[in-house]
Amino acid sequence: MNRRVAGIAPSETLAITAKSAELRAAGRKVWSFAAGEPDFDTPDAIKAAAWDALKKGQTKYAPVAGVPDLRKAIASKLKNDNGLDYRPDQVVVSNGGKHSLFNIFMTICDAGDEVIIPSPYWLSYPEMVRISGGTPVFVECAEENDYKMTPAQLEAAITPKTRAVIINSPSNPVGCVYSGEELRALADVIAARGIYVVSDEIYENIVYDGTKHVSNRQLSPKIFEKTITVNGFSKAASMTGWRLGYFAGPPEVVKGVTALQSHSTSGPNTFAQFGAIEALKQPPDFTANMVKVFDERRTYLHGKLSSVKGVKCVKPMGAFYIFPNISSFGMTSGDFIAGLLEKEGVAAVPGAPFGADGNIRFSYACSMEDIRAGAEAFERFVKSL
Ligand code: PMP
Ligand code: GLU
Repeated sequence: MNRRVAGIAPSETLAITAKSAELRAAGRKVWSFAAGEPDFDTPDAIKAAAWDALKKGQTKYAPVAGVPDLRKAIASKLKNDNGLDYRPDQVVVSNGGKHSLFNIFMTICDAGDEVIIPSPYWLSYPEMVRISGGTPVFVECAEENDYKMTPAQLEAAITPKTRAVIINSPSNPVGCVYSGEELRALADVIAARGIYVVSDEIYENIVYDGTKHVSNRQLSPKIFEKTITVNGFSKAASMTGWRLGYFAGPPEVVKGVTALQSHSTSGPNTFAQFGAIEALKQPPDFTANMVKVFDERRTYLHGKLSSVKGVKCVKPMGAFYIFPNISSFGMTSGDFIAGLLEKEGVAAVPGAPFGADGNIRFSYACSMEDIRAGAEAFERFVKSL
């Protein structure tokens, strides 16, 4: 096997999701907190727009960087919602935000280039960086600081080899959200270093308690030119299976990614992109209602997990994950998760692949009924240790 591929760990979020589906199919009751996937259907108007495009014969290859009307609609969205000035020709649509990120690292990293990743992190970042030939450099973020990277930590991690820094706010797996002030302080460190900021804003709409999402690029004219803004349709419009994501960024990155995409996937599914145009026209009610439901679950789950003896739990301010610290039980996160699934049928994800072996991740993108039953089962498991 190719050495680059042999070294990759398969995505554990997807593996555990598949494992719980298998156990269910075999007749076992499983409460699955594994998948980071909203449990809502895609709004009908979006489906209708894709269906309409199909009927109208939008069944041919799309331009490599995406359908022009979608790139235009994304540029307008970034201006109107995020205050970001990108031209439509600075936008590239890909097969999911994951694919956008993969293409970006393949384009910006050369062998030995370092990419700074605040830890805990979404588990695909380091693997993507490694596949591109780059080297992930982890910054251990303190639980006491809600797992956010400080400017001093960032400063200390930058070397002459640093090519990029990833900012993921709201974050997966911890749910932290950086304030404008915090981002500005990080931007001050980054400015004048000539490094890229890869700002993964896929959870931008999923924030709680009046928290505001701030787009990284709008913060400082100094990092304006080097910021690559990544987003997608999976989370806000509950379109995970449509596989549509995008980024907007500097012309050299757009050019590189477009060339790369032209030899790999070509443009994403044509009629799906017409659904995405409709998604950008949707009134914000859909997401607002979804966030309201997530918020009820978050409040319950945070209260319940924090009340279990030995468990510490930072309150998430965004996304739909909670990342309790279970290190007091003296087990690896993998053993903890294996026991929890085996004994109580609760499927969650170990923290190790997220860079935190003392934690586990629950996604609360499942029904309140399952959350209550699963949380009770978690408590029983902990008491049995
Ligand atoms: N970034 C983060 C932080 C994520 O959690 C996900 C979830 N899969 C993605 C990007 C990409 O999602 P998708 O490929 O479905 O757009
Ligand atoms: N991002 C989601 C998660 O972390 C979906 C699965 C994946 O693509 O990793 O669970």
